[in-house]
Amino acid sequence: EPVRVEVGLGDRAYDILIGPGLTERAGAEIAARMPGVRAAIVTDENVAGAHLEAFAAGLAAADIASTSIVVAPGERTKSFERLQDVVDGILSARLERRDIVVALGGGVVGDLAGFASGIVRRGMRFVQVPTSLLAQVDSSVGGKTGINTAQGKNLVGLFHQPQLVLADTGVLDTLPEREFRAGYAEVAKYGLIDRPEFFQWLEANWREVFAGGQARTQAIAESCRAKAEVVARDEFETGDRALLNLGHTFGHALEAAVDYDGARLVHGEGVAIGMALAHRFSARLNQCSPDDATRVERHLSAVGLPTRMQDIPGSLPDAERLLSYIAQDKKVTRGALTFILTHGIGQSFVAKDVPASEVLSFLRENH
Ligand code: NAD
Ligand code: ZN
Repeated sequence: EPVRVEVGLGDRAYDILIGPGLTERAGAEIAARMPGVRAAIVTDENVAGAHLEAFAAGLAAADIASTSIVVAPGERTKSFERLQDVVDGILSARLERRDIVVALGGGVVGDLAGFASGIVRRGMRFVQVPTSLLAQVDSSVGGKTGINTAQGKNLVGLFHQPQLVLADTGVLDTLPEREFRAGYAEVAKYGLIDRPEFFQWLEANWREVFAGGQARTQAIAESCRAKAEVVARDEFETGDRALLNLGHTFGHALEAAVDYDGARLVHGEGVAIGMALAHRFSARLNQCSPDDATRVERHLSAVGLPTRMQDIPGSLPDAERLLSYIAQDKKVTRGALTFILTHGIGQSFVAKDVPASEVLSFLRENH
């Protein structure tokens, strides 16, 4: 039996099911909740090669007719052009408002397909079937959808909640190791935000999480519970949903600094370095003990994630330039910067008045 986590959004509440074998069972789970629907499956070439056939067969077995829309893998797919392709695909399949768009893939597919479902016929229903660890613990839950523009990432999109999330922990076996590890950074993030016991559990059990089985399901379920709680409290990010950005202010700056070159740094790796730096920076500002910062670094390095700027291959822009990337970040107001800092493991908080000069000296010291 899969683990069930509910996202408590009143009459828009939905289930996240987590466990092995859900790809085959998806048809039955969807039919039980939404009888009589037809589906457009949006997926990317990598995921299609590994899982589309089994997934579509599961839908067919539950009498759900489907068409597939396959896009190229990668962040560039979150574009107006590919959005148009997906919208055209949904419309040519003659789906109606009550039918469903299924996002079968990582966060790229989820964000693109979710956005398309939110604008076609002024909002179709959609189902997330996340296939990367990052998507299972983060992007498939919470209703943020969208695409990138020349001005930056995720600048065009909608809040549009899915009807159901089906996280098949078995499909992660085909995910490249590096992508799994990067997704793990977001798992550790939930422990570091406000679940110290979870972080401690991860320190002891991360090998089992990587190996698969029950520990993996447990880690994903706990992450989904953490995300679901924050989303239910603050759906539109007017308050503490911002805590989910722990590690992301430094992380996004580093991603921008390498020009989003995934060969050098993928998102989760940026977040790992960002979380290590956020703890180190909190220690420098006398908000947390240096031992906690060391403990975070030790765990992330143990799983094989980078924790220092020097771990990124190739050279980085200087500290001033990095600060300018941070200052371009949307969380900036005047000379003070908003950061997620921490008082210790699992005790993070939103700091709205971090002086840019402190950030600059910290970046110089850690460059
Ligand atoms: P991704 O979708 O690009 O997937 C990573 C790679 O793994 C891709 O090459 C993909 O084809 C491949 N892949 C996925 N599942 C696989 C499987 N089971 N087997 C083999 N290969 C598989 O990237 P991601 O890390 O999943 O997501 C990153 C995206 O998510 C970014 O665009 C980011 O902005 C977005 N995101 C959104 C939210 C949100 O709340 N909406 C949150 C976090 C991140
Ligand atoms: Zn992230």
